[in-house]
Amino acid sequence: MSRFRTLDDIGDVSGKRVLVRVDLNVPMHDGAVSDDTRLRATLPTVTELADRGAIVLLLAHFGRPKSERRPDMSLALVTRPYSEVLGRPVQFINDCVGEDARQGIATLQPGDVAILENTRFHAGEEKNDPALAQAMAALGDLYVNDAFSAAHRAHASTEGLAHLLPAFAGRAMEAELKALEAALGKPERPVAAVVGGAKVSTKLDVLKNLVGKVDHLIIGGGMANTFLAARGVAIGKSLAEKDLAETADEILGAADRAGCTVHLPYDVVVAKEFAAHPPSLRTANVHEVAADEMILDIGPAAVEALADVLKTCRTLVWNGPLGAFETPPFDAATVALARTAAALTQEGSLVSVAGGGDTVAALNQAGAAGDFSFVSTAGGAFLEWMEGKALPGVAALQT
Ligand code: ADP
Ligand code: MG
Repeated sequence: MSRFRTLDDIGDVSGKRVLVRVDLNVPMHDGAVSDDTRLRATLPTVTELADRGAIVLLLAHFGRPKSERRPDMSLALVTRPYSEVLGRPVQFINDCVGEDARQGIATLQPGDVAILENTRFHAGEEKNDPALAQAMAALGDLYVNDAFSAAHRAHASTEGLAHLLPAFAGRAMEAELKALEAALGKPERPVAAVVGGAKVSTKLDVLKNLVGKVDHLIIGGGMANTFLAARGVAIGKSLAEKDLAETADEILGAADRAGCTVHLPYDVVVAKEFAAHPPSLRTANVHEVAADEMILDIGPAAVEALADVLKTCRTLVWNGPLGAFETPPFDAATVALARTAAALTQEGSLVSVAGGGDTVAALNQAGAAGDFSFVSTAGGAFLEWMEGKALPGVAALQT
């Protein structure tokens, strides 16, 4: 990865208008923010810039308004909750471009923070329209991108704008890029990757990229079933994509050629019905799954073997749960391996990076997220990064 500039390189910002792209796309419930994780993630950057005397202008999208001004998707709804999280007053400016916005911004003082209206109220945002990016640039002196989670989209506020003003990575973006670089860019070896989740089809590009980069590829979840089936193992009525047998074989072949060891489970947790603690629950050797059973988690012997693999590794990147973790006890393997990874991280022998919506939920459920080196909450962007793709919002910050 080439270098990107951070707030350490931004120079004197006092009295300057800094357009900061953040992620304010929070879930709302009955008019209140139901999870303020994303708001809190912006605090280091926003606080630092305000304390350094900048006029901080936050740009963000909110929902999918499809270029319409929708009151239910106005960032006015987020302004007060944001102000509470920030612990300072926050102004709301009714547009992210134009003369009214310019006049509103002109009344702000150094150290003030304002949220500009939803960038997606303009059709040009998702089209990365140069005219819209230009109109945004006219409102600021400097640009900071602190929204890694939106960096996989080349939109006017995430990509176009970065070419029109001096551009810098915010603190959250900086931390994310450093963690990802340590995990897959220039990692300490050996490197293990855990890839789980429901379907191979959603993670084909992830698997193809990882086999060339990691020493151990640990496959769990529903996608392990597809690989087992491709190898001729009878998997009963497990969730699997049988039409992907050939693709699974190709991935195994590519791993072999690249010297990447693929780990598939040799014992599994099965049941005849998918329910919490079903009476038919049992642990079985992977070759002994009955026709009316389904694999819902990897087994304890597999988890123990995988823990031993992690003990030999210096770096771990994890996406996807090893079992149907929402339904007990099919969270057991994910919880156990996550705790092992967390303990190894705390002992200092492992750098551990994880991401993915369900993965983050599973690691929280295991009480392990806080002990990983880094947990990314950027769903789509994290996955595209695992696929080895260049993220346009990141590329535009690079010098
Ligand atoms: P992430 O959001 O972290 O990228 P995914 O969305 O790919 O993860 O996968 C998570 C889903 O996979 C969970 O809902 C989980 O229940 C499901 N899953 C994992 N293992 C199995 C399995 N053996 N059978 C059915 N579903 C599974
Ligand atoms: Mg998911």
